[in-house]
Amino acid sequence: MPDRTHLPLPFALRGPFLTSCGDPFVDGVDATRRYESDGVVVVAEGKIADAGPARQVLARLPERTPVERLPRGTMLAPGFVDCHVHYAQLPVIASHGAELLDWLERYTYPSERAFEEPRHARATARRFFDLTLAAGTTATAVFCTVHAGSVEAFFAEASRRGVRAVAGRVLMDRNAPKDLRDSARRGYDESKALIGRWHGRGRLGYAITPRFAPTSTPGQLEAAGALWREHPDCWVQSHLSENLREIGWVHELFPKARDYVDVYASYGLLGKRAIYGHGIHLAEREFAALAASGTSLAHCPTSNLFLGSGLFDWKRVKKRGRPVRTGLASDVGGGTSLSMLATLAEAYKVARLRGASLSPGELFHLATRGGAEALDLHHRIGGIAPGLEADLVLLDLDATPLLAQRVRYASDLDEALFALIVLGDDRAVRATWVAGRLVHRREVA
Ligand SMILES: [Zn+2]
Repeated sequence: MPDRTHLPLPFALRGPFLTSCGDPFVDGVDATRRYESDGVVVVAEGKIADAGPARQVLARLPERTPVERLPRGTMLAPGFVDCHVHYAQLPVIASHGAELLDWLERYTYPSERAFEEPRHARATARRFFDLTLAAGTTATAVFCTVHAGSVEAFFAEASRRGVRAVAGRVLMDRNAPKDLRDSARRGYDESKALIGRWHGRGRLGYAITPRFAPTSTPGQLEAAGALWREHPDCWVQSHLSENLREIGWVHELFPKARDYVDVYASYGLLGKRAIYGHGIHLAEREFAALAASGTSLAHCPTSNLFLGSGLFDWKRVKKRGRPVRTGLASDVGGGTSLSMLATLAEAYKVARLRGASLSPGELFHLATRGGAEALDLHHRIGGIAPGLEADLVLLDLDATPLLAQRVRYASDLDEALFALIVLGDDRAVRATWVAGRLVHRREVA
């Protein structure tokens, strides 16, 4: 495939494409999915200019637009969205033998401490984007560390790559090692300065990022809420109801709160553009409060299994009448893969253990438009439709011998898609485009 990095001219890709264009959990898969077996997607100035059946799109294609035929056995899709990931924990992915609170002490804090050193932060940010783009992930919501420099390094690299990213400096002023703690004032001031420098610059957005309730004083959560009121188009991200010991601790630390969700609610931290990782052990009142406020959850199946945190309950999350907006997330380093395909496979298995069965269409939606909706970015990314940013991934249904032989026996799109989800990972990502620029290409023999 030619590298179009420096070509200002529009170009078109011809082959099968698949996109979600609505919410299958509400309206069903058939009404919210578009598949073209012989499609054309036209890209111009970083956006999708046209998309549809080849017959129709070719007829109206501007003259001299190059049309590239996609390789056999591949399918074009929107780039994946990872709604919750800690780039600073990349060095401790796959660390042994701990549940959440021990994990933080043994692995997370030592790993994050190293981000005091800007060179380490820059090198890790580079590696993070090399790996996520190779896995087909084109948009991320990222926790940095308590060091403002970790955010600078991350946004600088994201800007250089042209990717859409939401990220923030972790706020943490108690119950953490002394050298990783800030104060309510300092956390507020540094976050505000970072918002001024990065929020809305190119494709970047700032997320006000208290790590989770136990590591912030009421004063710090108050300051986080105030900051959001001053910058309402920023995001808020944190953790919620991941682990039973954690939940007990929250009750001790915030005795006046009705429950965990109420802690965040009482500081003005619920609403559209607020996204919370996990949400495993929630009560009905908490789900209802999330749904009513438009707050999103980031489902992190590999992390939940790896740390033994619990099983996300799809039936309750998507209860009729009050579904909670939900995206998919790797939660690396607690999570064990940056591949959204591998993460989807685990999401499917977690649902099975709770007596639910996610369909291939629902799964595909979660990793693309569902994530975009959870981040309130679906008017920009997460689909293949005119006007959306041209973040695209070319999926390879022949990526491995095991996958290829299974797909040969697939009788329809859903069977093939499900095989790709269960058996696929970064090897099934043949190419990745960010705002119409080819940023990753996997060489095949
Ligand atoms: Zn997390």
